[in-house]
Amino acid sequence: MTSIEISNLSKSFGSARVLANVSIKIASGEFCCLVGPSGCGKTTLLRLVAGFITGESGDILFDGKSVKDLPVADREIGFVFQNYALWPHMTAYQNVLFGLEARKVLKNERAPRAHAALTSVQMDLFRNRYPHELSGGQQQRVAIARALALKPKLLLLDEPLSNLDTKLREELRGVISDLQREHSITTIYVTHDQHDALVLADKLAVLSEGRIIQSGTPESVYESPLSAAVAGFIGSANFIQGEIVSITPLKVRCAFGVLDVASSISDAKIGHEVKLAIRPSYVSLTPTGECSNRLEGIVMENRYFGPTRRIVLESQAGALVAECPAEQAAHIQTGQKISIALPPHRLVALAA
Ligand code: ADP
Ligand code: MG
Repeated sequence: MTSIEISNLSKSFGSARVLANVSIKIASGEFCCLVGPSGCGKTTLLRLVAGFITGESGDILFDGKSVKDLPVADREIGFVFQNYALWPHMTAYQNVLFGLEARKVLKNERAPRAHAALTSVQMDLFRNRYPHELSGGQQQRVAIARALALKPKLLLLDEPLSNLDTKLREELRGVISDLQREHSITTIYVTHDQHDALVLADKLAVLSEGRIIQSGTPESVYESPLSAAVAGFIGSANFIQGEIVSITPLKVRCAFGVLDVASSISDAKIGHEVKLAIRPSYVSLTPTGECSNRLEGIVMENRYFGPTRRIVLESQAGALVAECPAEQAAHIQTGQKISIALPPHRLVALAA
């Protein structure tokens, strides 16, 4: 098991700065999800950690030691790519075996390790099939087996589920999570899919335009986003603009009145502009008598999403989206005026 520390890492391609002073610590055995939109620098960061490319400044430490001068082959990394990257002329078994040969694993250890790795992803029965005889999900299982067979110090996965349909994604997500925990391998998992990140991560880091804009447990990032970018990327959010009129307790005046906010904000000053965020699922459509932050809205849309419904409202605070269990909202009609509430403990004050 290996701890990783990335400190102040920067990388440019020509004049384009792709990563800017990225720092993050990943504890030994930790599952870190690096999440962010396409083009924000996720793959570049993985390639730097693997040693395929080098940065202009900053450092990468494995167990406290710089790996700057350590070649790719000596970093003991298992890599899983989005497009499986299996050798087409080799069977599943040969693909896994080849990885072990390339790492110069002792000859008598190779076959048992290849079988064990294929068994751990339920692919041993398919070991003699060529990649074109396997489904996408099965090919990715082989790619995971190939990485695990190496008993890597660090597992890097670059959008490994992106090419799979929803059902397979869910299944393989479980496989990856179980294997990672069973082997306690320090892992960096790159994805642009917030669900993967929320489900899998011990630590979640949000990357935007080459910078880590927030990191922490999935719960802390989801429940307490620091910025509109994080609130909008991890889950979805309604935003309300206002002005601070009281600091303790926090009160914010917006277009229709004053909202009570249970969270706090650093460097708050009376008169400062502030943006509040609230998740659609936290907008209450059944406010009771003593609820604060009540307002009215006209229902513009009520859509069925299986277990939930999404209600779009035109309210005194502007357009708001609410989400609730389907049966609770089945009777709500378009054009209807309804009473809603924004519970104070669900409103998050964002830094400017
Ligand atoms: P992500 O994996 O988050 O989608 P990448 O790390 O692949 O993003 O790319 C980040 C940015 O760096 C993109 O704008 C991409 O075009 C650019 N980039 C990546 N690799 C290279 C390269 N080898 N040469 C030039 N630009 C690159
Ligand atoms: Mg990428």
